[in-house]
Amino acid sequence: MRTGVYGGTFNPIHRGHVHILGEFARRLGLGRVLLIPTGIPPHKRPQSLASSARRVEMCRLAAQELPEIQVVVSRIELERPGKSFTSVTLSQLSGLYPADDFFLLMGEDMFLTVDNWHNAATIFRLASLCASPRSQAGLERLRAKKRELEALGARCFVEDIPFWDVSSTMVRELAAKQKPLKGLVPEKVAEYIEKNGIYREAQNNDL
Ligand code: ATP
Repeated sequence: MRTGVYGGTFNPIHRGHVHILGEFARRLGLGRVLLIPTGIPPHKRPQSLASSARRVEMCRLAAQELPEIQVVVSRIELERPGKSFTSVTLSQLSGLYPADDFFLLMGEDMFLTVDNWHNAATIFRLASLCASPRSQAGLERLRAKKRELEALGARCFVEDIPFWDVSSTMVRELAAKQKPLKGLVPEKVAEYIEKNGIYREAQNNDL
């Protein structure tokens, strides 16, 4: 089976994430997508990180917006101690699903740095890299990077998926000011954030 692997901090998951997940699944014929919130993100350290349980729950609520796709929210990185290295996750997944072909989904910012990730060669061996833009000039940058990565042995798919100009940072900033999140995150995620006061005060982030 063609299995998508979509990792991120998802702090919180937003419409940009849901949109690219759906588009990649459709365009690449993915039979299932594993949505994987990171434990300790190796690439960033957000100031207010919601608890794992809450990020998982928000991913589950967001996945309900894609009923036509088999989305599995995976705790694989949350259950592993230490930093969440993608190479380790892919090695574990290859053991769990030996018959699957993995497609690692990511946005522009991640694709442009993927060759510097821990054990990048292992990532290139175990999965095809799938990227889409997050900026106006992004597509050209991605195409140039694809050529560079292919020379290193990576298999790459650059898809021209129209992007939603939204980030989790934007959502957290609005939530902190108790502004409406409508349009930026799936409705059920907005309700969950508002009901639980997530991102409103530092004390909430440890719950
Ligand atoms: P933050 O604002 O906290 O840095 P983020 O919005 O970048 O977070 P992540 O959870 O870090 O969200 O992103 C997970 C993956 O989704 C990354 O590969 C990232 O490039 C991609 N991504 C995030 N937002 C978008 C978007 N609007 N369009 C396309 N890809 C996105």
